[in-house]
Amino acid sequence: MSFSVFQLHPHIHTAVQKCGYTVPTPIQQQAIPPVLAGRDLLGLAQTGTGKTAAFVLPTLHRLLDGPRKSVRALIVAPTRELAEQIHGYIEKMAQHTTLRSAVIYGGVSKKAQAAKIRAGVEIVVACPGRLLDHMNDRAINLSQVEILILDEADHMFDKGFLPDIRRILKSVPSQRQSLVFSATMPKEIRRLAEDILRNPATVQINHTQAAPSISHALIPVEQKRKTELLKNILENKGMTSTLVFTKTKYKAKNVAQQLENFGYRATSLQGNLSQNKRQEALYGFKSGAFTILVATDIAARGIDVSGISHVINYDVPDTAEAYTHRTGRTGRAACTGEAFTFMTAADDKMITLIEQTIGKKIQRETISDFHFDNQDIEAALAAKKVQGRSRPQKEMTAGAAQRKRTPTATPGRRTFTKR
Ligand code: AMP
Repeated sequence: MSFSVFQLHPHIHTAVQKCGYTVPTPIQQQAIPPVLAGRDLLGLAQTGTGKTAAFVLPTLHRLLDGPRKSVRALIVAPTRELAEQIHGYIEKMAQHTTLRSAVIYGGVSKKAQAAKIRAGVEIVVACPGRLLDHMNDRAINLSQVEILILDEADHMFDKGFLPDIRRILKSVPSQRQSLVFSATMPKEIRRLAEDILRNPATVQINHTQAAPSISHALIPVEQKRKTELLKNILENKGMTSTLVFTKTKYKAKNVAQQLENFGYRATSLQGNLSQNKRQEALYGFKSGAFTILVATDIAARGIDVSGISHVINYDVPDTAEAYTHRTGRTGRAACTGEAFTFMTAADDKMITLIEQTIGKKIQRETISDFHFDNQDIEAALAAKKVQGRSRPQKEMTAGAAQRKRTPTATPGRRTFTKR
């Protein structure tokens, strides 16, 4: 199948070709025809599937006919990074047309955004909070919106944006085309989709399946040795561009700082940064100025950086969906990638859930200096209980116990063995 089957306007088709796309991805194959036909759509797909093109291309095609300088398509996204990414993509795909897009989100001045809207745009990509600000200021008129798109609806719900979305919905015409994209379908999103969509086409793209181009490995490690392990595998795995995920903002900052101190070109992307610092981190990673980006799940949503060779789960994510989201950052389009997950004894249950969700057992990989497994932790915990009752002395940690049992590895020599 090629893009020509969609019969997109030649101006848009040329941009698609310039981008180097030859074959539409499954979501594009299934979503573009109904959207071109004017139907509402529920798209169950995560970032990395090509969903942006799946809604941008038919939207541009439909907007080509019709007036200019009024907001005719509104795309709402949960994060500034995702909004920027969609806006950038629209600019690329609309480069041969007279359609214009503006992006609006908080953390930067409202003035420039209001000026751009006033100058006249047909497409607005917005985060909910700042969009409401502009609506309150009467700086934006949504009464001419023909197409409404909610991207990453489940993430909007996670971030508490649903009341804002419902407020925004009151300002757009009820006669419109609506598209809702979500990686998962919690009941709140199902209800929202039912309220918004009229007889939608539904497209579901293996949203819980990990991409086949990614190889996965679990590395058991003691919590306190994770940074050491990270350094070890950064040195030994031929990593060119690595995205590291931590559970908290503090840890993201701290781990990036430690890597920087070790001489790595590392930076962090987490919610405590100012907008300028976030952009700096993201652009620095995209341009290759930083080879390692340490991020939290929320900050990393919507990151579109091609050529990420490795994803490292420094901390196991809280949900199986987050695992597929994270690991989907590598192995995109035609590339392959590797995902390593650092696993402590506390992660057993979540790992089982992840394996059930992705439908396969993840290979365990033991790195000799770090040899450690769950039985060690259980043994150490049992010993702790006994010692706690009999003699209150400082007991050996599980890792220390293990290191005592195994001959010390030669410093600097790193070997990788598979269990
Ligand atoms: P998305 O899921 O929209 O974030 O897209 C993921 C990545 O796939 C982006 O880097 C897109 O540029 C790329 N992409 C989207 N559609 C195609 C396609 N048909 N062929 C090759 N790459 C694509």
